[in-house]
Amino acid sequence: MYNIPLFDLNYDENELQAVTETLASKWISSGPKCRELEEKFSETLQISYACAVSNCTAALHLALCVLGIGEGDEVIVPSLTFVATVNAVRYVRAEPVFCDIVSPMDITIDVKKIESLITEKTKAVIVMHYAGFACQMQEIMRIARERHLYVIEDACHGPLSEYQGKKLGTFGDIGCFSFFSNKNISTGEGGMLVTGSPEIDKRVRLMRSHGMTTMSYERAKGHSASYDVKELGFNYRLDDIRASLGIVQLEKLAFDLKKREKVREWYLTYLKDMEGIWIPFADNYELSSNYIMPVVLKKSDYKKRDHVRKLLQEQGIQTSVHYPAAHRFSIYQELPHGNLQNSEYVADCEITLPMYGKLEESDIVFICRIFRHILEELP
Ligand SMILES: *Cc1c(COP(=O)(O)O)cnc(C)c1O
Repeated sequence: MYNIPLFDLNYDENELQAVTETLASKWISSGPKCRELEEKFSETLQISYACAVSNCTAALHLALCVLGIGEGDEVIVPSLTFVATVNAVRYVRAEPVFCDIVSPMDITIDVKKIESLITEKTKAVIVMHYAGFACQMQEIMRIARERHLYVIEDACHGPLSEYQGKKLGTFGDIGCFSFFSNKNISTGEGGMLVTGSPEIDKRVRLMRSHGMTTMSYERAKGHSASYDVKELGFNYRLDDIRASLGIVQLEKLAFDLKKREKVREWYLTYLKDMEGIWIPFADNYELSSNYIMPVVLKKSDYKKRDHVRKLLQEQGIQTSVHYPAAHRFSIYQELPHGNLQNSEYVADCEITLPMYGKLEESDIVFICRIFRHILEELP
């Protein structure tokens, strides 16, 4: 067993009570709890519409569908992301076009390179706010407006995170969030799609439930008797059991982020003078969700990185890698792409250190001491 896991679920008796109440209500599928979560989420993010879905992959798929992206279209995506960001593009038969990240210090999509990848076929850009640190949204939105591209934000890492004081996920046409167990808001599986557009919201609501014009809850409550099917939709609904977990998690989020901020400060303090590593976003001053704590080894390769991870594991410190570069996966290997050397370097040399609110200063001191010692001992 690890002494220090990578992540720890932020659950207590409040989640248990919320689920118990939902079970006792006997309405467990999508209903009033989903509605409540949507309202609280949109209010918190200060955006007009939020639509609860079964996971973020579904949100990304719906986003591409309702923006009318399909066969023959190109969508610019980062390679350094969870593969769902890229897979969603293929769901609608469009082509993902991989874009590099800025540098080992800013591991988000490189705006300068986005421009050079735009062709006649480009319809959208999906950006991913790594660990809750913002992509350069001002520049990205400027290019998108100039070149008539849609912007979808994969904001899975960044609920409540900000860029110039505005919440991530609210800059583009659509923002997508995940409530998977290890995310900042954990409901097991779950997600949210946010938008400022009433038309997009309306279509997303249709498409998440088979294209049906009314939901079971409305019919059960006698608000309507029948329904029409207007479009070929999916079953991408969230259930009220998970939504009730999400409501509690959302309430706890701001406090949890304060604790994570403290944990990150400790890391920065105890890793600051280490010469063998970069700490991405070290100069960030905006509010971040600190979903994960990445460091990047200098003068390294994947063998050295994997060796360091193994030594950390032997000391009881669980780590991870975010992410393997998507363009190297078998299903994307054949796709032509430009220079992705920063993505490849970070994919090979990044280590994700433990990050969650319950970590104490003594844990971080321990992790950093071991980590420093391991790097110093390496040939
Ligand atoms: C978790 C994650 C997803 C997928 O979310 P699911 O809710 O598991 O579908 C997509 N993109 C990023 C960046 C993620 O971290």
